[in-house]
Amino acid sequence: MSDAVLLICGPFTDEERSRLEAAHPSAAAASPAEIAALPGALRAGIRAVAYKGHAPFGGGEMDALPALGLIANYGVGYDAIDVAAASARGAKVTNTPGVLNDDVADLALGMMLSLSRDLEEGARLVRSGEWAQRALPLNRKFSGGKAGIVGLGRIGREIADRLAAFKMEIHYHSRSEKDTPGWTWHADPVALAAEVDWLVVALVGGPETENYIGAAALAALGPEGVVVNISRGSTVDEGALLDALEAGTIRGAALDVFLNEPDIDPRFRSLSNAVLQPHQGSGTVETRRAMLGLQLANVTAFLAGKPLETPVN
Ligand code: NAP
Repeated sequence: MSDAVLLICGPFTDEERSRLEAAHPSAAAASPAEIAALPGALRAGIRAVAYKGHAPFGGGEMDALPALGLIANYGVGYDAIDVAAASARGAKVTNTPGVLNDDVADLALGMMLSLSRDLEEGARLVRSGEWAQRALPLNRKFSGGKAGIVGLGRIGREIADRLAAFKMEIHYHSRSEKDTPGWTWHADPVALAAEVDWLVVALVGGPETENYIGAAALAALGPEGVVVNISRGSTVDEGALLDALEAGTIRGAALDVFLNEPDIDPRFRSLSNAVLQPHQGSGTVETRRAMLGLQLANVTAFLAGKPLETPVN
């Protein structure tokens, strides 16, 4: 008979796992697909799941845990979890909003600067010794450009604030206009793309925002335009984006997220006009500790019958 009430599910680090285990009697599963294979007596005692990862967590996995009352996600984006299925089973879902805004915005700016000033090629010239034979070609000015944020939520605002400090003109698209003096709202993402040089996607993922930025927005962005995506691979039509990058109908892309991570479309590998990162937006020691702390606070509150810190449903 197991006394575990918490299931630690996903690729947690040793430090993270130790913090969760020290707080509550726990069991572990490497991924949602492995839950059904756990012993029935163990599954029957699980009341909360601490989840990390992007593999789907659906009704089937929930049904394998008959006492499930909470899925606490590690991350603000919970598009991998079927929230409607959780609600239908009386289970709550929580996420970790806010604590990662700075890091994700910092990475967006880092990728944008890297693309503008060709930092990858510059580093290659220095390291290889080729610098003695040829200079780095002139690159492109970053400060003072025109930026369009798609999804002016928590992270989108942090990105916009940073770009404003780079003397950029700020435009954005959200479903409703925000109180943002000096920034220009566009009701339509295609109209936004037509107005700016940098199209920065900071939307939630999931079916409602799938291919939100498609071929029409990329065409409107034009040959001087750059797509930046730190949201989810699903929010931009990836086939249309690859076509545009290969044909040079946009200037470039800076991407932290892709479809089918980490086995991304091999067409990305040969692009010289794209900065590519392995979904590391929140990946600092400080922020990952804060994310685990908020996830654990939700688990602890739930198991103590107290109000959840950051409920989703
Ligand atoms: P947020 O504050 O909830 O903002 C989300 C934005 O998405 C809002 O502007 C919202 O628009 C928009 N949106 C939501 N549903 C929509 C819909 N159905 N149609 C159109 N727009 C919709 O979220 P956040 O904390 O900024 O996080 C945003 C996303 O960033 C997360 O969901 C996650 O996918 C991603 N993320 C990535 C990383 C990384 O490592 N790269 C790390 C953390 C988060 P309105 O203003 O119109 O409501």
